Amino acid sequence: MYIVQIASECAPVAKVGGLADVVYGLSRKLSLRGHAIEIILPKYDCMRYDHIWGLHVAYQDLWVPWYSGAIHCTVFYGWVHGQQCFFIEPHSSDNFFNRGHFYGSLDDHLRFAFFSKAALEFLQKSNKRPDVIHCHDWQTGLIPVMLFEMYKWHGLWEQRVCYTIHNFKHQGITGGDILRATGLNNEGYYFHYDRLRDNFNPFALNFMKGGIVYSNAVTTVSPHHAWEAHHTDISCGLGHTLHMHQDKFKGILNGIDYSIWNPEVDHSIPFQYSWENIEEKSKNKKVLRERLLLDSSDPNKPIVAFIGRLDDQKGVHLVHHALYYALSRGAQFVLLGSATENTINSWFWHEKFHQNNNPNCHIELGFDPELATLIYAGADMMVVPSNYEPCGLTQLISLRYGTVPIVRGVGGLVSTVFDRDYDQYRPPEERNGYVFYQTDTHALESSMDRALGLYYVYPDEFKKLQIQGMQCDYSWHGPAEEYEALYDFVKA
Ligand code: ADP
Repeated sequence: MYIVQIASECAPVAKVGGLADVVYGLSRKLSLRGHAIEIILPKYDCMRYDHIWGLHVAYQDLWVPWYSGAIHCTVFYGWVHGQQCFFIEPHSSDNFFNRGHFYGSLDDHLRFAFFSKAALEFLQKSNKRPDVIHCHDWQTGLIPVMLFEMYKWHGLWEQRVCYTIHNFKHQGITGGDILRATGLNNEGYYFHYDRLRDNFNPFALNFMKGGIVYSNAVTTVSPHHAWEAHHTDISCGLGHTLHMHQDKFKGILNGIDYSIWNPEVDHSIPFQYSWENIEEKSKNKKVLRERLLLDSSDPNKPIVAFIGRLDDQKGVHLVHHALYYALSRGAQFVLLGSATENTINSWFWHEKFHQNNNPNCHIELGFDPELATLIYAGADMMVVPSNYEPCGLTQLISLRYGTVPIVRGVGGLVSTVFDRDYDQYRPPEERNGYVFYQTDTHALESSMDRALGLYYVYPDEFKKLQIQGMQCDYSWHGPAEEYEALYDFVKA
């Protein structure tokens, strides 16, 4: 099959969160399975250009209709770790993708509506006719809308769309001006509850809703999150829309790329190891301590870690509590995170200064993939106390590196982590971590207490749990087969 992925992120060139890993990992797996895969991305000024090989102009004069005129774009082509990528660069005073950041501008809805339109225009003009267009999150929600309302009549009439929702929280809600910008125009038609009109704000249009309504198949990133989206308020107002389109909606669990996330061959960590020689992991722990200037007088002290965006979704109040609880139980704590919200950012900067001279705690504020890998390899436990978590990659990577996850039982965390002591469905030899459900500190403490208790009192049992986690298969193998079946189902 010929599949084009259109997204606002792709690891490692343009990565903010898990979306980037999914776009790259799924594409790579599908290519290995013999499909022709291309990825279309915006050409951001702040991309990691050192990860793009052979970047050159592929299409010189792409004119994308925009409001009553057109914007001139150049399309570049390059390889990102074996994947074929096209990068769209608009030349206009709007400077859509030369902002020094991926998201966070006031006109984000215009930036990504433009990108969506430019991607379709590129497919049309360059005579690319994929079987399936796979688009992701609100940024590309208008693609199926424009495809089936406009581009279908201009040569793209056989293309089908699979739309994956990675996060319901950001939906791209904006006013009717976007219809004039994209040329969809007809306000009366699109401001209908069966189409793009937001379910709660009658004066706004909703990109993600458009994606759900118009796509041939809609997925979210874990089966449990799909259930939550149907039956709880986690879909942030889109529950009714999902209900109306339930026949084409399902959850497919994300995988992680085992060619990248593999402690046996990962040369970004100082010591490689597998479940058969997991003792080697402790050498990485030593290096981690040295790098972060943590006390190493007692090599057996456990290291509890957190890696992730510091925002409300990730349960920051519990992350903060986990830090103090770990220290109070004689463990060390390492935090790597970045916050976009000012209040959370200053809270953790304050905490960082407070802990500056603590030899058992390190807080690193920023985005550092290399350090993240060393933490996965060197830590003993990873806390993931999310308020909600569509899939979550942190626990999957932790499992792969023998770092026991302690998670809140929501979304994809429920589909991937099975409590060592209490899981009702998995036999003991298939359990791999600790799960708590409530959002209060007692729930977190009790699961951390069980994990640390096992570590201190029954180290062999703890090791067994680490090995069981490493033996889980959360590669792209299974998910790619599911997507393949879905593409096959929707393709014309
Ligand atoms: P989300 O997509 O909600 O941010 P996920 O758990 O799905 O969360 O994916 C997060 C990914 O980003 C993981 O690969 C994680 O290792 C990585 N990551 C998150 N924060 C950082 C950071 N500060 N530095 C490096 N990597 C990070």
